[in-house]
Amino acid sequence: MKLAFEVSRSSPIISRKVGAVIVAQDDSVIASSANSLPFPSLPTEVGELNGDTAKAYWIEHAERAAIFEAARKGVPLAGTRMYTTFFPCTSCMRAIIQSGIAELICPPPEFNHEKWGQEFYHAELMLRWSSVILRVEGVDQRYHSST
Ligand SMILES: [Zn+2]
Repeated sequence: MKLAFEVSRSSPIISRKVGAVIVAQDDSVIASSANSLPFPSLPTEVGELNGDTAKAYWIEHAERAAIFEAARKGVPLAGTRMYTTFFPCTSCMRAIIQSGIAELICPPPEFNHEKWGQEFYHAELMLRWSSVILRVEGVDQRYHSST
């Protein structure tokens, strides 16, 4: 988790810096990313990156960016663990589940969060229907017992 927080510092987003790290069963790091652009910089015609519009369209979330990095490297994610500094949104949760990541370690979902509360509700529900093991702040919670 410490590395995920270190990685989050590289995010160009001022309002929320998120980091995600994927590790293999032997704890070696497979991929890591902050919420970031898919390019070195924002095209000038887009304008200000930290404005809500540009951010929403141009920034990839840390969790998916790390999954995509693993894909670029050709590393399968079945059985791996992801550490992330923010509870995943629905799009990231789908990616986590479908990529085969086995365990997710992250802060608890803030269901009352003004912007992300509904996302967290649905993402957490997806997790319950998946075989991904959730560890929230060091507490083991197996939502699904079929594994
Ligand atoms: Zn996300």
